[in-house]
This record gives sequence, C-alpha cells and structure tokens, in this order.
Amino acid sequence: MWSFQTDPDFQSELDWIRKFVDSEVEPLDSILGSQWNIHDARFKRFVRPLQEQVKARGLWACHLGSELGGKGYGQLKLALMNEQFGRSRFGPIVFGAQAPDTGNSEILAHYGTPEQKERFLNPLLNNDIVSCFAMTEPHGGSDPLLLKTQAVADGDDWIISGEKWFASNARFAAFFIVMAVTDPDAKNPYRSMSMFIVPADTPGIEFVRDYTYFGQAEPEHAHLRFNDVRVPKDHMLGENGDAFAVAQVRLGGGRLHHAMRALAEATKCLDLTCQRVASRFTKGERLSEKQMVQERLADCWIQLRQFRLLTLEAAWLADESKDWKAIKQNIAAVKVMMPKVLHDVSSTALHLHGSLGLSTEMPFSYHLMNSYMIGLADGPTEVHKLTVAKEMLRDVEPSQDQFPEYIHHRAKAQAELKYPAG
Ligand SMILES: Cc1cc2nc3c(=O)[nH]c(=O)nc-3n(C[C@H](O)[C@H](O)[C@H](O)COP(=O)(O)OP(=O)(O)OC[C@H]3O[C@@H](n4cnc5c(N)ncnc54)[C@H](O)[C@@H]3O)c2cc1C
Repeated sequence: MWSFQTDPDFQSELDWIRKFVDSEVEPLDSILGSQWNIHDARFKRFVRPLQEQVKARGLWACHLGSELGGKGYGQLKLALMNEQFGRSRFGPIVFGAQAPDTGNSEILAHYGTPEQKERFLNPLLNNDIVSCFAMTEPHGGSDPLLLKTQAVADGDDWIISGEKWFASNARFAAFFIVMAVTDPDAKNPYRSMSMFIVPADTPGIEFVRDYTYFGQAEPEHAHLRFNDVRVPKDHMLGENGDAFAVAQVRLGGGRLHHAMRALAEATKCLDLTCQRVASRFTKGERLSEKQMVQERLADCWIQLRQFRLLTLEAAWLADESKDWKAIKQNIAAVKVMMPKVLHDVSSTALHLHGSLGLSTEMPFSYHLMNSYMIGLADGPTEVHKLTVAKEMLRDVEPSQDQFPEYIHHRAKAQAELKYPAG
C-alpha cells in the first residue's frame, strides 16, 4: 500500500500548527535570543503561554514512541509536524520538540533509572529544564574513536576528565550527556566508551568559552573542561562500553526531524524570493518574467520536492520497519541532502534579493550559515556519504573475469541460450 494522502484529522492539526506558527511563534524570532535560554524573563513571558496552548491542543512533545511512554505518533507524522513548526527558530521549543532535548529524552527514557527519569526526564519533557549532548572534542569530531575524555571508576563513583567542544546549549543546560572512554584497551574500540549523565552543577566543570556562528542570536556552543568531575556509578547510561549504542538511540528520528525543519527553512526562503521577484522591476519587466530567474526558482522547487520525498520515504520506512539499522542508508542519504538543499535554496534567495539579500536586514546569510552548520553537526556530510555508499556496495560480488558479465557479446550469448533462435 502506498499513499501520499494525510489523514484529514491530522491534516487539520497540521493546518492549525501552520497558522499558529505564522501568527504567534515566528514574530519571536525577531526579538528573542537563544531558543534554549529558558531562564530569560522574556522567554517566560512570551514562550511559556504559547507552550500552554500547544499542550492544550495535545501537540506537545510528541517525539517519544509509545514503548517509551510517549504518544507514539510515529516518524511520518512527526516529520509532517516538523515541516510546519520548522519555519520558525522558536517553533521546535514551543512544541516541546527541540534538539538536543528530544534525543536526550529518548536516551533517558531508554536507559535512565526510575530516579533519573523523575529527576531529569520528566522536567526535560516539560521544558522546565534543557540539556546538552557533549561528545565532540577540540582535537577531533568526525572520528569518535579519537575521543580522549576519560571516566575512571573510583569506589561508588566515576571520575571524568577531559575536554568537550561545541557542546550546544551547555550554558543553559541542567545536565549534560557526556561520552567518555572507560576501557581504553578494549579489543573492539566501539566498546571502549560509555555514556554518562553529568548534572551541570557538579563541581569541576569549567566553561572555557562559548562559540557562535554568523547570524546566531547569542553564543551557545561551549568549550567545556571536565576537571576530575565525580558522578555516582548509576549515572552511566546503559552498560560499560555501550556509548555507541546509546548515541544511536537519539540519531535516527532526530535526523529526520532536522531534515524537515531544514526543508521548512528552505521553503520559507523560496516563498520570500517568489514574492521579491514578483515585485522587483528591472530592464523593462519584473524579475519573475526573466527566464534565467524562472529557471533558478524551478530548480529550487524541484530540489525541495525531491528532498521532501526522500525524507518522508525514510520516515515511512522507519514506521514500517521499526528498525533504524535497517534504514541507515536512507537516513544517511537524508542527512547528506539536507545541507545541500538549504545551501542551494538560501543562496538563490540571497542572490535574487540583490544587495538587500546580502544585508543583515534579510535572513538569508543566516540560513546559508545554517546549511554549513547542518552539514557538520551530527557528523560531516562526507561521513554520511560513506554510509550510503557502503550500504550500496555491501552485498555486491566482484566480477570473476576481466570483462563484466553484462558486456554486450556475453549478455547476448546468455539471452540466446534463454531464447534460442528457432
Ligand atoms: C553549530 C554546531 C553545533 C554542534 N553541536 C554539537 C553538540 O551539541 N554536541 C557535540 O558533541 N557536537 C556538536 N557539534 C560538533 C559536530 O558534531 C562536529 O563539528 C562534527 O562531528 C565534525 O567534527 P569537527 O568539527 O571536529 O570536524 P573535523 O573532524 O575536523 O572534520 C573537518 C572536515 O574534514 C572532512 N572530513 C572529516 N572526516 C572525513 C572523512 N571520513 N572523509 C572525508 N572527509 C572527512 C569534512 O569535510 C569535515 O567537515 C556541533 C557542531 C556545530 C557546527
């Protein structure tokens, strides 16, 4: 069975989200700082009431599967929701669906003890607190086997030492999920690390610096130093050596949600551009009447539709298979295409707006920077392309001969064996 139709009841929820985001949420993008700064007085004043409306509508924090105590919407519906609220920087947090809290809550729901769920998961799901995922280190990010931060057992505790880098939202977070080496001599290096909950107020955590990139409202990517940070034994998530398995829990759904938000961001750039080219007059006609402009718009539209299909197909497969491993090629393909689509569409928007497009009065340079950001966060594009290709090549048998079996004279001979001439 295959259908592109959205169930009418759910479509009316999507329509509501779209209107609500347009009129109530998007204006916040122009006046508030970081979406994770829940401690800001204006966040409390403006964002909290909107979150209450979303809760009353039953659309709050829908990302957890039913097996984890969530609503069990499934990836396809979540993808369609993210497409709507992804148009606004504040959309995800107003709907209780912001990264990295969504992924971190999946980890806690999977691996947390009842006490940890009470202390960290419930307030996280309610956005009473926010969290941070600290994996990358200053000396290397694309290859997690290079991580050096260590956790050493000491009585009833683990002592963590090392540095983390680009730990987003650490400044606002109540706790960090930290990946650290626990068995440097493990035969299988993928079993050498473990994952820990580290409460932000644990002594020994040093904020070295917060980083930002062009267009961000405020710095929010931290360089952290862990100076013999002591956490109780039960703060390990999963078993000793499980870090890679734990990290995977947060990635599948997260990448699809990111993709639909990137799609929304790019679609918004294109919508604004259509309006601009329909308004701007030069050399005797509107920009929208020039074929070179039309071609760029058409290319963007087609690219967006292709990307939407690729992502929704992956979401559908996730719901059908309930097995992230089985669809890792699809997820990696989505992760690869996401930065390219946002890059191409935001560049087109910037360029077709002329000098105005380049100025900071317009959002396009920020969206363009975001395209680079999403090509790095959760691993660079190259690494995900490798996954796509490895999956393609996994079961391919090499030819036994210098010439392939499908060379014409051989293919013809085979065909004649099957269909002999009369
Ligand atoms: C805005 C932002 C937010 C982030 N938030 C977080 C966070 O919250 N938590 C966290 O842990 N990390 C976070 N990161 C870090 C992110 O995961 C890393 O930037 C990413 O994994 C790449 O690591 P790196 O920056 O060290 O780049 P490097 O490992 O130095 O790689 C640099 C470049 O080398 C090339 N390259 C790398 N590997 C290969 C390969 N195998 N084949 C071919 N080329 C390759 C790619 O072009 C890559 O961009 C964030 C990053 C950004 C930009």
